[in-house]
Amino acid sequence: MTDQPRKAPSQAVLAVQEVERISPDLIRITAGGDGYEAFTDNSSTDKYVKILFADPSHGLTPPYDLAQLRAESPEKLPTRRTYTVRSTDAARRRLVIDFVVHGDEGVAGPWARRAQPGDTLVVSGAGGGYAPDPAAPWHLLIGDHTALPAISSAVEALQPDAVGHVVLSIAAPADRVLPQTPAGVQVHWTETDDELLSIVEGLAWTDEHPGVFAHGERGTIKAVRAILKQRDVPRDRLSISAYWARGRAEDQFQAEKREPIGQIDEA
Ligand SMILES: Cc1cc2nc3c(=O)[nH]c(=O)nc-3n(C[C@H](O)[C@H](O)[C@H](O)COP(=O)(O)OP(=O)(O)OC[C@H]3O[C@@H](n4cnc5c(N)ncnc54)[C@H](O)[C@@H]3O)c2cc1C
Repeated sequence: MTDQPRKAPSQAVLAVQEVERISPDLIRITAGGDGYEAFTDNSSTDKYVKILFADPSHGLTPPYDLAQLRAESPEKLPTRRTYTVRSTDAARRRLVIDFVVHGDEGVAGPWARRAQPGDTLVVSGAGGGYAPDPAAPWHLLIGDHTALPAISSAVEALQPDAVGHVVLSIAAPADRVLPQTPAGVQVHWTETDDELLSIVEGLAWTDEHPGVFAHGERGTIKAVRAILKQRDVPRDRLSISAYWARGRAEDQFQAEKREPIGQIDEA
């Protein structure tokens, strides 16, 4: 193998066009413009981007030369956060991201709360890897408020005759916004992750394994993984990972994925 330098993913420099509070804890940001050409779309329902937040006091102009910053002034490197792209509109050159506002801590949540049309949003990607398999005998979609955008897109992609369960832990009833599911798909809303786990534990399991999409808080997702292991769900039927970890900013949470504490299969 040649030792080629890795090509940096391109950055789409977008302008915020609309800011909409779609529920008490969810802010929908529509962003686009000429910079949309640098965005690489894909057909995964869980497609996601890395958003780059530069500290305005550093006076950087996007797209950012990350290699140069890393080499010369790493303290100026933008903070990276991962967000699902809820939808895209290539004709209008724009995309939609739903941000959970989770208090004053962090970078992305507070940014979304203050965002105004005209603000800059720099994204790279999209990555992604899941879409409901039409051949799956049944579907099991599990998540919390951070996975609601990806689960909403998955629900929209289900076949009309799909069967299964959506189990979502979202405390406030007003935040429980989900597209219409097919008649054969039952939606379970829970107030807490503990309740979510007991619902998943108690689901009647058929002989055939479901196609699973399970994402949310790390501790909860580890416990979900343990339940799925007991049920012998094969790895190739699973899209499972943590989207965040309580008490960890995303930088630390991502770094810990290389350690036992960060690994979902650990439980
Ligand atoms: C593939 C992927 C897709 C994702 N998609 C979305 C999405 O569409 N919408 C979305 O809102 N999030 C999404 N997330 C989760 C999001 O990246 C994290 O919540 C991220 O930590 C938020 O960054 P922040 O700067 O606001 O907070 P951070 O600086 O990362 O964290 C600050 C503090 O807030 C806590 N915290 C972080 N997120 C939450 C939360 N949601 N609820 C309560 N406390 C929290 C942390 O534990 C930490 O203590 C996704 C994550 C991944 C990996």
